Amino acid sequence: MQNFEIETSRGYDAVVVGAGLAGIYALYKLRQQGLKVKVLEAGSGIGGTWFHNRYPGARCDIESLDYSYSFDNDLQQEWKWTERYASQPEILRYVNHVADRFELREHIQLDTKVVSAVFAEDDNAWTLTTDSGQVYQAKYAVMATGVLSVPQVPSTTGLEDFTGEWYHSGDWPNDGVDVRGKRVGVIGTGSSGTQMIPLLAEQADELIVFQRTANFCMPAQNRPMDPDVEQEWKATYPERRQFARQSGFGHNQVANPKSGKDVTAEERQAEFENRWQLGGLYMMRAFKDILTDKDVNNEASEYVRSKIRSIVADPKTAEELSPREMPLGTKRLCSGTGYYETFNRENVTLVDVKESPIERVIPTGVRTSTADYDLDVLCFATGFDAMTGALNRLNPVGRDGRELRDYWAAGPRTYLGLTVNGFPNMFIIAGPGSPSVFSNMVTSIEQHVEWIADAIEYLESNGLTSIEADFEAEAGWIEHVNEVANGTLYRDFKATWFYGANVPGKPVVFMPYLGGVGNYWNRITRIAQEGYEGFLLGGRRPAESISNSSSAGI
Ligand code: NAP
Repeated sequence: MQNFEIETSRGYDAVVVGAGLAGIYALYKLRQQGLKVKVLEAGSGIGGTWFHNRYPGARCDIESLDYSYSFDNDLQQEWKWTERYASQPEILRYVNHVADRFELREHIQLDTKVVSAVFAEDDNAWTLTTDSGQVYQAKYAVMATGVLSVPQVPSTTGLEDFTGEWYHSGDWPNDGVDVRGKRVGVIGTGSSGTQMIPLLAEQADELIVFQRTANFCMPAQNRPMDPDVEQEWKATYPERRQFARQSGFGHNQVANPKSGKDVTAEERQAEFENRWQLGGLYMMRAFKDILTDKDVNNEASEYVRSKIRSIVADPKTAEELSPREMPLGTKRLCSGTGYYETFNRENVTLVDVKESPIERVIPTGVRTSTADYDLDVLCFATGFDAMTGALNRLNPVGRDGRELRDYWAAGPRTYLGLTVNGFPNMFIIAGPGSPSVFSNMVTSIEQHVEWIADAIEYLESNGLTSIEADFEAEAGWIEHVNEVANGTLYRDFKATWFYGANVPGKPVVFMPYLGGVGNYWNRITRIAQEGYEGFLLGGRRPAESISNSSSAGI
């Protein structure tokens, strides 16, 4: 890719909001193209998700060799992951290593929350203001604000009077929490809850788990990195990265191409057992129709329930832990270590808060409709205002004073998950309308950053001033995102953060794109190669802009 210079009197060519895996790569990539870039990060360290989610047991559910950057071969060859699935501290070390290795740190400003982002038509620039009153101007605004970055603490009354300590999984103290000798409560049994519960149970005196909806939790089958596996991966990284980019979910987990209906009941059971042994999200690749065929999914669900019954000694507890409400995988599958086994411990109690709802937090603990539970520490593993939370809070103001929060009032509107009509030169990384949370995030981040970098190069080398989504193209894309989701079992279970249903008042709209990472990547690449159909370039349609530019000899 050629280097080029942007003619600008502004301080920066691009400002990136957020220094997680997305912001770090955006900084690297855009700087490589010769842009002057600043990254503004609210946290006191880099790493985004992996900086804030420090709860005990926090670990990625994509294999570490896959969940890593591919953009630099020396990096992927030299970095040594110690476990099959990397823990939060290891991923955070990795992110910091990348920042140091590529000398990125000096371009990142920490402890800096962006409180407003406003587009000025006359200047064709974004003005970003921080919580300390600093003002940054740039032609391009890149939103790397994360999709699971706004913790959702339920508006449970009485929390302010609680005399113990309380924490949210997504905002865990940097120095950790010492629960030894304490009575600890956990509200929430999603991915975060199921990861922290076994470790808290080992450390605390007593652990009370408040479960509203039972979730499917696969054994991660985590283990120390096998040197042979590592060597094999490193020898085949180019092919593996390419495979991930063209795959359904952006990683190397091998999917069974067969339909569950085309094999015998015995073969289905054998495949479920195989997937259970492979661990974690592998179960979702057991059959190609596990997420589209109710019968296949029912059988897989029952298989996992039978595993729960075989692990949990008390039949009543086993039944309470057995999900009945949703098809397997329509609520994000959890991947944990020793989760169900934990409920065989004497110091662990499961409280069904669907049956006996939490009424309030009291000074000494939690009150449900049937009992009071004394607690020293209360942990909220209650999830996030996902996909749109961070951007809606920042509420960028685009062309003609259009506010993103208003524009997204009925649900997020993007074209290809990358840009929004009325918000010129604002790019979103791994946001709503893209594979995002339905993929290995690092693969999706790299795809988006590379697409954005190419788009900027295209604008600059064609003398174009701006890019934004065309309104009609955006509407068509949202329709397509919904259509794809409606062709799956996700249509049958909407009480999830995929639909925004976990946040009171949020519109219930399916937000990520389920069409597959490879298909999506091919589509956005083709659109770019063919002159950005569906985008408004420089305020005009691409065909006009380019032919006018060339006839004017610019
Ligand atoms: P989550 O999946 O949204 O789970 C939140 C849990 O809190 C649910 O069990 C929910 O119950 C419960 N809850 C919420 N409000 C409640 C209330 N008022 N009373 C009682 N229970 C309440 O959140 P998460 O576990 O933080 O995970 C979010 C996403 O982050 C995951 O789906 C995953 O994509 C990602 N993540 C990944 C990993 C990993 O890689 N291993 C780890 C952590 C997180 P209901 O189901 O009844 O609403």
